[in-house]
Amino acid sequence: MLYNSTENKQEVVSASQAIAQGISKDGGLFVPQEIPGYSLDTFKSMLTLDYKGIAKKVFSDYLSDFSEEEISECVEKAYTAEKFGSDNPAPLAFKSYNGNEVNILELWHGPTCAFKDMALQILPHLLTKSLKKTNDGKDAVILVATSGDTGKAALEGFKDVEHTKIIVFYPVDGVSPMQKHQMNTQEGSNVKVCAIEGNFDDAQTGVKKIFTTEEISEKLNDNNMMFSSANSINWGRLLPQIVYYISAYCEMVNSSKIKLGDKINVVVPTGNFGNILASYYAYCMGLPVNKFICASNSNNVLTDFINTGVYDKNRDFYTTISPSMDILVSSNLERLLYKLSGDNDIVTGDWMTKLKTEGKYEVTDEVKEKIKASFYGGYCDDVKTKATISKMFKEENYLCDTHTAVAVAVYDNYVSETGDKTPTVIASTASPYKFSNAVLSAVNNGEKLDMSEFDMVDKLNEISGVDVPKPLASLKDKKSRFSDVVKVDEMPEYVLNALGVK
Ligand SMILES: *Cc1c(COP(=O)(O)O)cnc(C)c1O
Repeated sequence: MLYNSTENKQEVVSASQAIAQGISKDGGLFVPQEIPGYSLDTFKSMLTLDYKGIAKKVFSDYLSDFSEEEISECVEKAYTAEKFGSDNPAPLAFKSYNGNEVNILELWHGPTCAFKDMALQILPHLLTKSLKKTNDGKDAVILVATSGDTGKAALEGFKDVEHTKIIVFYPVDGVSPMQKHQMNTQEGSNVKVCAIEGNFDDAQTGVKKIFTTEEISEKLNDNNMMFSSANSINWGRLLPQIVYYISAYCEMVNSSKIKLGDKINVVVPTGNFGNILASYYAYCMGLPVNKFICASNSNNVLTDFINTGVYDKNRDFYTTISPSMDILVSSNLERLLYKLSGDNDIVTGDWMTKLKTEGKYEVTDEVKEKIKASFYGGYCDDVKTKATISKMFKEENYLCDTHTAVAVAVYDNYVSETGDKTPTVIASTASPYKFSNAVLSAVNNGEKLDMSEFDMVDKLNEISGVDVPKPLASLKDKKSRFSDVVKVDEMPEYVLNALGVK
């Protein structure tokens, strides 16, 4: 199977090239030229597989220049019970909310307690194999822009991985204290963490710019290095995320919530549009899905886009209690637009150019209709988010994090608006302990407590009785290693310095 750029169909690469390179030279994203189709019989045969088995099947259908042995090795190393707490790294919790069943897909049992681990525990293995196949011994420099969770998950995945270096940029005031502490205490000899003065979009734009600056790439090349990406613009990030939508479907069938072939709805708290796009790819492969419910916080650019077909990032930016979704430029939307426009690289490229120059574009009526047919967009603000955490805790004694709560709230609206009772899977993207301040005040009747981060963790544990994940508990006594803060235009210099390249 080959991949091409969303902005230039002539740019065709192998799977390993797509993963090694991360992003196409023209600025477009790599997409598979054909999506493998699964029949109901294929899904039936997957009902008896464990998570690793499903992962191996999906990976082998997309990564045609990897051998079965290579794929098996990557999967076995990534999804261990040691790292994810059990043999099922993505279990469903069967709950209800406001009288409706919700099946919560817990994607945060990995080493950094956010769903990013599902992809970033395997990406380093895929990437080192890809580098061997394609780039005669060059070291990969992973540049990451993070709204909090990707950074830590990528650091943890790539720490001390041979032939890689990783540099993470995060918005100085745009992540939770726990997220900041997780990143700044990161161990490993090949890691760097730096805050930038700006928001996530500034960090992401800065990183994209470094990627596409010829002069910098040449300098790296002279030093036997090349850039790659661990952000969800990298196909190697998206592919692993397809797996858990299939495994969730199988678990729904196996636990008699649905029959094989029945449709489900999928609700995803969305930022960069990576996670929800993975579910859409699963659907394109044949997974029976009725609606994709795209949940946003007050940064509701996607809600408006789904409702009007106009993407307009010229709006106020809000810092919310669900910081991993504080994003106005959702990079992976580009892949959806490419697909819905009938693999049209020209119009996709035009829209992306408009986004860069005017901050705004409008898709065709045809694309608008396709979006409306499959997607529902909704959003909720911080007050509603906290109320949802509180209500869920009172009703079910179930603690969800701020991002998951946004998804639950938007789903609740969707059901009241549409009356649609299709069985539904809600992606739960982080442990509540990553956002203790907001979650604690939500379950503590809105009362703010003047406490240190780790005292809040203890208090939340006392109130909820929910265990604190070990990786977070063990951070308490760790010393900070990184404290750099730079301006956006200083990012290139920071990178070259960090790499010791002149
Ligand atoms: C990254 C993240 C999101 C958003 O996921 P996208 O793939 O960027 O849409 C939502 N919730 C949490 C906790 C995250 O870390």
